[in-house]
Amino acid sequence: MTKAMMNKGGVFIVSGPSGSGKDTLLVKLFEKMPEIKFSISCITRGMREGEKQGEKYNFITKEEFLGMIERDELLEHNRYVGNYYGTPKAPVMQAVENGCDMVIEVDVNGAEKIREKMPEAVSIFIMPPSFDELERRLSGRGTESAEIVAERMNNSLREIERASEYDYIVINDDIDTAVDDIMSIILSQRLKLDRIRYIIDEVLEKC
Ligand code: 5GP
Repeated sequence: MTKAMMNKGGVFIVSGPSGSGKDTLLVKLFEKMPEIKFSISCITRGMREGEKQGEKYNFITKEEFLGMIERDELLEHNRYVGNYYGTPKAPVMQAVENGCDMVIEVDVNGAEKIREKMPEAVSIFIMPPSFDELERRLSGRGTESAEIVAERMNNSLREIERASEYDYIVINDDIDTAVDDIMSIILSQRLKLDRIRYIIDEVLEKC
């Protein structure tokens, strides 16, 4: 039997407050580990400069989003700064069944809901190195009004309060070190007994 048939993929929940630098970090992670799948969320907020449809997000209308909730097509969903964010269920299930590792980037509430449904998921929280650096990163973005920046700062601090719910904390001070840290977490999960039990079984079957 092939590895893909025997081995289920791992689900890695990644959260980090706005300003933690997790987007840049994840781009670098996917450059280094292109075999990992990324869960593309459906969201109802407007597209920011530089964002593309279907890259990190599928930008959909509120009506489309509510339709997905009604048809039970979302693993979890949440409202954030007036917009809906949700994780489509099918791609995650498909990746796991095909033996692919999948990264799901969600906020702390989304992480909590996924953990309830998939207790085997590994959760990683990306931390900014300090309060001052978080403030600098949020106000330096320059694409949003002062009220939105203040709301994001407040949301970020509320998220950091829940960092202890996660399996792993990665401090994003030096980006390369932080990427290496996430890679170590993913690689170590691939060596867990449950992920390689099929090899033991295969060897013993031939005894
Ligand atoms: P942003 O608007 O800055 O791209 O994202 C805002 C927040 O929404 C971030 O904390 C991000 O992790 C979170 N987020 C992105 N996709 C999802 C999702 O599918 N579900 C949930 N619950 N949160 C999401």
